[in-house]
Amino acid sequence: MTKAMVNDATKMAVLTKRGAARARSGHPWIYRSDVADAAGEAGDVVRVVDRAGRFLGQAFYNPKSEITLRIATRQDEEINEAFFRSRIERAQRYRESLRIDASAYRLLHSEADGVPGLVADRYGDYFVLQVGSAAIERRLHWILAVLQDLFAPAGILLRGDVASRGREGLVTKVEVLSGEVPDSVVVNEGPLRYRAELRRGQKTGGFLDQRENHLAAVHYVRGRVLDVFSYAGGFALHAARVAETVEAVDASGPALQAARDNAELNGFSNIAFTRANAFDLLRERSDAGTRYDAVILDPPAFAKTKRDLHRARRAYKEINLRAMKLLAPGGILVTCSCSYHFSRELMEEILRSAAADAGRTVRVREWRGQARDHPEILTIPETRYLKCAVLECL
Ligand code: SAH
Repeated sequence: MTKAMVNDATKMAVLTKRGAARARSGHPWIYRSDVADAAGEAGDVVRVVDRAGRFLGQAFYNPKSEITLRIATRQDEEINEAFFRSRIERAQRYRESLRIDASAYRLLHSEADGVPGLVADRYGDYFVLQVGSAAIERRLHWILAVLQDLFAPAGILLRGDVASRGREGLVTKVEVLSGEVPDSVVVNEGPLRYRAELRRGQKTGGFLDQRENHLAAVHYVRGRVLDVFSYAGGFALHAARVAETVEAVDASGPALQAARDNAELNGFSNIAFTRANAFDLLRERSDAGTRYDAVILDPPAFAKTKRDLHRARRAYKEINLRAMKLLAPGGILVTCSCSYHFSRELMEEILRSAAADAGRTVRVREWRGQARDHPEILTIPETRYLKCAVLECL
């Protein structure tokens, strides 16, 4: 495939009535069962029309994927380098408007920035990309050219190890796409610094979607703080700025070592690190009658798919119930869920039942979401995924 041929959008996909209604509703994902007829191969850009031939948009086509079409634009425009340039410029203008006090942030958040299947995180002089669609993979040379031109980064790394790649028929790989990229870089988040492991860390090296919640937690926590599911210390480090003592808990040795290194980098000596299964630790501590002034819960997505919901509800209730029991009167619970399938309504229902079982009156101090550089699109519910409740247990 030569570069000149990659934008051959003469191919067409015809949607069923339901598919066309979905496209018109503003949702970019069209499932296989809503495609009446389509021609092309994985990674092609196709014109999307309804049965009457009315134009609905241009989409990334992949017959291998359940999400067979990802509408990239609802305009009748060519998807070429200029298209990506205008998307990337728009994304950067938005990030600049946020006045982010950090050198690591998300520049491109896939569908929410009009680039389905492409995530670009900036870590100072470096970019880390996640590519989860065949169409983007084929057009990466344009995206790299625009990033080079606009930002002149020292290096760009592809973290091609996301699960969505398998569904698109893309191979798993981690490779430098341009320049040179170190294994890790030190970035700042507000007044703190932390080391992000670009090649081996979770996601692209850090939980950038929690940045604003890390900073907000500082306004609530105090005294004795327990940070459960700490990873490299995202919450623990910020808590250590205002708390007497912080204990960071994670099941992963490397994550805790990173947290330890980050504590040292910032000169904190009030953080302890405990490697443990969170479920066991929370049960043991609550059985022992230990008390904290603040508990932070930031578990991994217990519900990766709808099928996991039942198990996820139980797990989520368990950790929150234990945490509420651990809190001294007036204690603060910062509790998060990053799973889209686990809705805010469901989370409230479970927290309510945990509060009842713990016999605590719980005052809602604030409901928060993902950091604003991970934007939410009104017509794409999946773009609203991270919930963070700040609760006071009276
Ligand atoms: N709070 C972090 C991100 C947490 S990611 C931040 O803001 O940066 C979730 C973490 O939970 C991972 O580090 C993972 O190692 C840990 N984890 C997953 N299951 C666990 C369990 N059962 N017990 C303890 N830690 C667990």
